[in-house]
Amino acid sequence: MADDKFSQKILRVAIVGSGPSGFYAAEALLKQKEVPVEVDLFDRLPTPYGLVRGGVAPDHQKIKAVTAVYEKIAQLPGFRFFGNIQLGKDIQVSDLKERYHQIVYAVGAETDRKMVIPGEDALGSHSATAFVGWYNAHPDYRDQKFDLSCESAAIVGVGNVAIDVARILAEGPEILAKTDIADYALETLRQSRIKIVYLLGRRGPAQAAYSPAEIKELGSLTTADLVVREDEARLDEASKTDYLNPENKKNVDYVQAQAKMGEGNKPRKIRLRFCVSPVEIVIEDGRVGGLKIEKNRLVSDGNGKAKAVGTGQFETLPAGLVFRSVGYRGAPISGVPFDLKSGKIPNREGRVLSSDLKNPCMGEYVVGWAKRGPSGLIGTNRADSVATVKGMLEDALAGKFGWTVPPVHPPASMEQFLRERRRRFVSFPEWKKLDQIEIEEGKRKGKTREKFSRVSDMLSALDSAVGTA
Ligand code: NAP
Repeated sequence: MADDKFSQKILRVAIVGSGPSGFYAAEALLKQKEVPVEVDLFDRLPTPYGLVRGGVAPDHQKIKAVTAVYEKIAQLPGFRFFGNIQLGKDIQVSDLKERYHQIVYAVGAETDRKMVIPGEDALGSHSATAFVGWYNAHPDYRDQKFDLSCESAAIVGVGNVAIDVARILAEGPEILAKTDIADYALETLRQSRIKIVYLLGRRGPAQAAYSPAEIKELGSLTTADLVVREDEARLDEASKTDYLNPENKKNVDYVQAQAKMGEGNKPRKIRLRFCVSPVEIVIEDGRVGGLKIEKNRLVSDGNGKAKAVGTGQFETLPAGLVFRSVGYRGAPISGVPFDLKSGKIPNREGRVLSSDLKNPCMGEYVVGWAKRGPSGLIGTNRADSVATVKGMLEDALAGKFGWTVPPVHPPASMEQFLRERRRRFVSFPEWKKLDQIEIEEGKRKGKTREKFSRVSDMLSALDSAVGTA
């Protein structure tokens, strides 16, 4: 029997994914006054915060401080967290539909795009996503191996992720030692013999995807010089429109100034190249030995955008490691519509559509990277989630999508359901215990925190905390 008080008057929402977009959706729902709402936020990991925990670089603690905002959201009345519960595995969309009026997918873009070049799967060729997850102690990447015994590494792509990877490879481990970097990653970086990091943009400096602040930081490392070729920093005809954008202008001006500084005298070099595309990973002794690149020229695509076209001039960079950093991509989840072409959950302004884009999926919504693709900074997700929530409330108030029809099961039933299925979920107070353990362990080692990197260790720590309470 459904509980009338809750199911009739309170809009019950399940949000799947506890990264920034999930938290901002919860905030927008719980802070508005028009409709009484309760939110259950699910995450496949026992830990919340998505890419803020598992993606933002450890030497960017100021950016990570945004979790204080999410903690406050978690204290709002009507909020519950179910960590360690994966949609499509531990629970199904049908289970959610029986318990909630509306579902919000805030599942991000979990995989990465490929370069699609020969040799891409060779030993020593990695996705930036995996490297980032590894140094951030993400359980999915904890057991990856990165052999940093070579002298040079190449990173393909010039977005902010590529900049993070270049900085982590080139920065002195002493800076990282005080952060929340995974202990095993710090140890590997301490042994690193990498001296040259190539950072490769397929278009010019006016089209680079990184932010001005990020490239400036890369040029200010104490351990590495940012080296740019003057011929590649020059603005060409096809880039004049892009240069009008203030951010692009800052980027161009910065690299042109940097090009004038030459080689510098720091022990490591980050060689930022423009107008070069990867064409093949050269394999030597069964692993990555180099990266063959083709020089490009830029032409206008007819819509004011500069497009890279190969010139037929090739060179091979010596590199024992190649990281592709050419963008994230969404991964399909069982029971959730997915557009294979765009890698997103198909939607119209946040309202989910069927995979063939023909029909609306009643009561299902999407926010963040799963909605618009992997672009924008953390704050971009706030307005994006607010926009989806606006539509959700309009639908609820219009009586659409079942708000007036109580879900089959009462509100508290999710806990009971998961217990019956022997699914060990982690509540927000339990996460706070893990948080405290990590911070204390960090203090002992002179670090911001020492993260758990295995789910089993997190659950054991919680079980022993209960045992000793
Ligand atoms: P991104 O910003 O989309 O950059 C992808 C890069 O890969 C671009 O330079 C792109 O060049 C290049 N690329 C794509 N396909 C390629 C190919 N086949 N060959 C060679 N190059 C190719 O993606 P991201 O770096 O993964 O970042 C994702 C989002 O997270 C961004 O919005 C970013 O700002 C954000 N982020 C922010 C921070 C921060 O603020 N510190 C840190 C990390 C990530 P084209 O432009 O030519 O396509």
